[in-house]
Amino acid sequence: MIRKLMPLLSLLAAVAAVSACRGAGAEPPSQPDHAPRRGTDVRLARDSEIFRALVPPHSTLAAVLRTHQLLAHETAALVRTISEKFDLRRVRAGQPYRIERLLDGRLREFEYEIDHVRRLIVRRSNDHTPADTGDDTGTDNAAFEAELAEIPSRVEQVIVHGGISRETPSLVQALEATGERIELGLALADVLSGEMDFNTDLQPGDTFRLVVERSVREDGVFAGYGSVLAAEYVNAGRLLQAVRFTPPNGAPGYYDAAGRSVKRFFLKSPLKFEPRITSSFARARRHPVLNYTRAHNGVDYGAPPGAPVASVASGVVTFAGWTNGGGRTVKLRHSGGYESEYLHLSAITVKSGAHVGQGALVGRVGATGLATGPHLHYGLRRNGSYVNPVREHQNMPPGEPVSGVHLALFHGERERLFTALTDAAVRTMNND
Ligand SMILES: [Zn+2]
Repeated sequence: MIRKLMPLLSLLAAVAAVSACRGAGAEPPSQPDHAPRRGTDVRLARDSEIFRALVPPHSTLAAVLRTHQLLAHETAALVRTISEKFDLRRVRAGQPYRIERLLDGRLREFEYEIDHVRRLIVRRSNDHTPADTGDDTGTDNAAFEAELAEIPSRVEQVIVHGGISRETPSLVQALEATGERIELGLALADVLSGEMDFNTDLQPGDTFRLVVERSVREDGVFAGYGSVLAAEYVNAGRLLQAVRFTPPNGAPGYYDAAGRSVKRFFLKSPLKFEPRITSSFARARRHPVLNYTRAHNGVDYGAPPGAPVASVASGVVTFAGWTNGGGRTVKLRHSGGYESEYLHLSAITVKSGAHVGQGALVGRVGATGLATGPHLHYGLRRNGSYVNPVREHQNMPPGEPVSGVHLALFHGERERLFTALTDAAVRTMNND
C-alpha cells in the first residue's frame, strides 16, 4: 500500500505549487496531507487516488484525461457530459484541475477551475455499480453528471499603501510592489482621474493609501477586487482624497472630505478604454490649399465593432433611431445646456425619452450610415452649437456634491474609512 502511495505523494509534491490554487470545499477523506507516521497502520480503506495539476499548454481536455490512464470510454463519456454544460474550447492552459480515480481505473470525480469564481464539477452518477464484475472490456456504462458551481468567497476590506519612486515610477508598478495587481491601479486612477492625470502628473515621492474590497476564496486565493472605498493620494505635496458614498436610494459616487464630488460632469470619453482619436474636431474653415470648406462636428474614435458606448453624463434620450449619414444614432440631453450624440452604432440599447445615468450603455460601436469602417463619431453641443468634446471634457465641471440631508451620514462613513486609512498598522478589517 505504501508503494502504491509513493507515486501519488511524489505527484502531489510535484504539483505542490498548485495547492495554492486548489478549489475550495471539503476534501475527500482519501486525501493525504502528510506522510503516514512510522509504526502506524496505513489506512486500507482507500479506494481512490486524487491527482491535481494545471492544464498544460496546447492541450485539450481529452488529452489531459488520457494522461491519467482513464478508460477510453470513460474519457469519451466525460467529454460528452461536460460539453453539454461547458464549451470545451474554453479550457485554458494553466487552470487547475483535479481528478479522483477509483482504483479500478474508473473516474469518480473531475473538477476544473474555470476562473477565480467558477468551477466545473463532474461526478459519476452510477457510483454504486459493482466494480468487480470481471468485465474489464470497457462496457461498463459510464454516466456522469456535470454542474457549474460558484467557488465560495468572502469580501474583505484591505488597506494598501505604497509610493512612486525611481524603482516604481508608475501607479501600476507601485501597486505591484505591494503585491497588488494592475486592476487596482486602473481603479485608483479612475477614482481620482478628475483630480489628476495619472499619465503625466506622477512624481517620485508621491504616496498613496487606499481601502479596497477584495474577494478571497475559502482557500485563500484572490478572486478579484470590489470597489475602492477610500483613497488618499499625495501628489507633489498636494493631498487628494476620495471616499465612496452611496446616499439612501441613490447611486454610489466619490467625494472629497468636504463632500464635493471628485468625479466630473462628463466621463473622459464614451468608450471605456482610453480610445484612439482617428479624426479630431474641426470648425468649418476654408482649406487654404484645396479651397473647400470642411467641418467635423465631433471626434472619431477607432474602436472594434460591438464595443460598448456609454452615456458621458446622466441625461434624457432625445433621439434613438436612424439618421442620414449618422446611421443608427443616439442623442442625449444633459443639464447645463449640453447635448451629446453617438453615431454609426451597430445597435441601440435605449429608447427615446428614457433617463440614463452617467456611464449607462446606450449602444454599440458599428459602421452604419456614412462610415468607411467601424468607429464611433461622438459629438457634443453646448447651447445648440457644436463644441470640441475633448476640450470640453477636460474643462469638465465637477459633479453634484453630497446633498445637505445626507451630510451627517456621509461624515460617518468618511470618518470610518479615513480612520482605517490612518491606522496603517492594521492591514485588514473584518467586513460586517
Ligand atoms: Zn466623425
